[in-house]
Amino acid sequence: MDFSDSPEERVYREKVHAWLSANASPAVAEQDLSVVADADNVPRAKEWQARKWAAGYAALTIAKEYGGGGEAPIKQVIYEQEEAKFDVARGTLDIGLGICIPTVVVWGSDAQRDRYVKKALSGEEVWCQLFSEPSGGSDLAALRTRAVRDGERWIVNGQKVWTSGAHFADYGLLLARTDPAAPKHKGITAFIVNMKAAGVEVRPIRTMAGSAEFNEVFFSDVSIPDSDRLGPPGQGWQVGLSTLMHERMKAGKGFGLAGWKKMLDIARNARIDGAPALKDSRVRERIADNWAQEQALRLLSFRAQTALSQGGIPGPEQSISKLVDGTLAQQAAAFMLDLVGEPAVYAAGSDSPLRSVYSSWMWAAATRIAGGSDEILRNVIAERVLGLPTDARPDKNTPFNEL
Ligand SMILES: Cc1cc2nc3c(=O)[nH]c(=O)nc-3n(C[C@H](O)[C@H](O)[C@H](O)COP(=O)(O)OP(=O)(O)OC[C@H]3O[C@@H](n4cnc5c(N)ncnc54)[C@H](O)[C@@H]3O)c2cc1C
Repeated sequence: MDFSDSPEERVYREKVHAWLSANASPAVAEQDLSVVADADNVPRAKEWQARKWAAGYAALTIAKEYGGGGEAPIKQVIYEQEEAKFDVARGTLDIGLGICIPTVVVWGSDAQRDRYVKKALSGEEVWCQLFSEPSGGSDLAALRTRAVRDGERWIVNGQKVWTSGAHFADYGLLLARTDPAAPKHKGITAFIVNMKAAGVEVRPIRTMAGSAEFNEVFFSDVSIPDSDRLGPPGQGWQVGLSTLMHERMKAGKGFGLAGWKKMLDIARNARIDGAPALKDSRVRERIADNWAQEQALRLLSFRAQTALSQGGIPGPEQSISKLVDGTLAQQAAAFMLDLVGEPAVYAAGSDSPLRSVYSSWMWAAATRIAGGSDEILRNVIAERVLGLPTDARPDKNTPFNEL
């Protein structure tokens, strides 16, 4: 594990930092995650993406011929680390840019890459990911949305759920069942779907935080031209695996919901039974414990970073980072809410420095589900890191329509 930048990486970091300093203001507060998938945030996110595109920072790991930077993944990590220090709209376009578009680059035809990649990288078109369904979340291969071939087009009927950003997306990466007689992993095909097409209906789901970042999406006789099929028929599972690999890598980079410094700030101003909260040894112990776990996560991220720096890819240990990070974020958020108490609720939506305490707590639960739930991550760690016997999968080879 190597903790420091190589000489080349240091030069690149300085270059990126200089560009960011010239184009954005330093961040004064951590980003409020509750606004990331807010439609109001989209114009600002698109404007920032267009500026990155013009400067060559839009998608560093995508090949130059498709409009990316053609750089090694470590450059993307460095760029993101530096960008996080600035007050820019981060996160809103991530599903498209970090998950869908890299999948189009790998699986798309030349015509698809020409049509879709540059418009997404330049911030002109926004994408969403249409995978999860009421009957297929963790068990994604159980999805039931049907696509039936009709000459040079496919007719889609079914429902997706938890589709982040579908309410402002132009295109979606869709997995649908095209061969119900094949075993569940083998009868799926991937498509690019125009979210404005006739028969696509997006219904917002309001979360307990009061916002509506994700949606139900209904397909009623939606027509998709065969030219928008992504990859061969029946290979949708393999297409989806590319997508999920990008998603887990993204999720494992940290949600940044909490942080020991923020806990310390909150504790400095809070009181317990009339005395400063920091005088309470239980409070100090919690902050120290958080600090220790964050250091362990940092070291794990250095391990992934070292792998990237040496031209490798991070392994399933990324699941460990995501598992610990989500749990830590939720525990820290609950602790801060306890310390602040009722005023945290009134501060939400205001300019108060306490405004993110409540939304962090509301959001923390989602971090333990999105991009792979805790239990699924534990299965990955058990099977692929520890080499324990695999989960029972009795339905793997049975035709889907006989399950
Ligand atoms: C904030 C957020 C944003 C999201 N955005 C998107 C999006 O843009 N596009 C999209 O397609 N999806 C999205 N999702 C959906 C997400 O991928 C699913 O919620 C996730 O895969 C879990 O699926 P599920 O909700 O159907 O839960 P289920 O799979 O029904 O799981 C229910 C519970 O059972 C447990 N469980 C399931 N299977 C096993 C097993 N084999 N072993 C042990 N325990 C198990 C789970 O861990 C969980 O606790 C989003 C979710 C969240 C929270």
